Amino acid sequence: MLLRVCHLYPDLLNLYGDRGNVLAFLARCRWRGIPAIVHRVQKGEQVNFQEMDFLFLGGGSDREQNLMTKDLMRRADALREAIEGGLVVLAICGGYQLLGHYYRTREGQIIPGLGLLDLFTVAGPRRLIGNIAVEIELDGKSWRITGFENHAGRTYLGQIAPLGRVLAGHGNNGEDGLEGARYKNVFCSYLHGPLLPKNPPLTDYLIQAALKRRGLPFSLEPLDDRLETAANQVMLRRLGVG
Ligand code: GLN
Repeated sequence: MLLRVCHLYPDLLNLYGDRGNVLAFLARCRWRGIPAIVHRVQKGEQVNFQEMDFLFLGGGSDREQNLMTKDLMRRADALREAIEGGLVVLAICGGYQLLGHYYRTREGQIIPGLGLLDLFTVAGPRRLIGNIAVEIELDGKSWRITGFENHAGRTYLGQIAPLGRVLAGHGNNGEDGLEGARYKNVFCSYLHGPLLPKNPPLTDYLIQAALKRRGLPFSLEPLDDRLETAANQVMLRRLGVG
């Protein structure tokens, strides 16, 4: 058993410590004796998504999104097939926007997305910035996750479920109370922080989904999450929803 983690465009898509998501996934595997390795895939490099167990796409500024969009487009069919087959994906902010139909910048430039998810993003006049709390449901159990958001893009969902509901903060667009998107094993969110180190239940859910997809035993030993839980509580209280 070996879980393969693909970090796509690690140099271009990595804002506010987004790489910590990969580190948290690996650490929580390692602490349970589950071997896992990272493939850092740059522009122009080959990767077989079917062989991967967890794909991570981080956030990036408009400039960086522009730099890798052509390369990403070439991977659209392969990625669609892997996603339909249950590939576990976490996409944050800029990475999230690129999985949708398009991102329209403040200047009116359309950066095409992969169109794998039914959503689009339009940059608004002011950035949506700050700490955020979101209620999400995993296997019928609800959790309050926390993070930090900083985006100009307002994302609107079509025929696709949100990741969760905003308790405090802005979320997808500051209007409809929704945050992120969820399709099969694809999880999208505006939450930096980074997201996974701050929210262990979500990390474990992704690890389990990856194990399940390979037909491996997926029940995970609990870990000592007292520090993470305490940090989560502090932020929820600070945001007035704890
Ligand atoms: N450029 C995008 C926006 O501002 C994404 C930013 C990000 O990934 N933090 O909406």
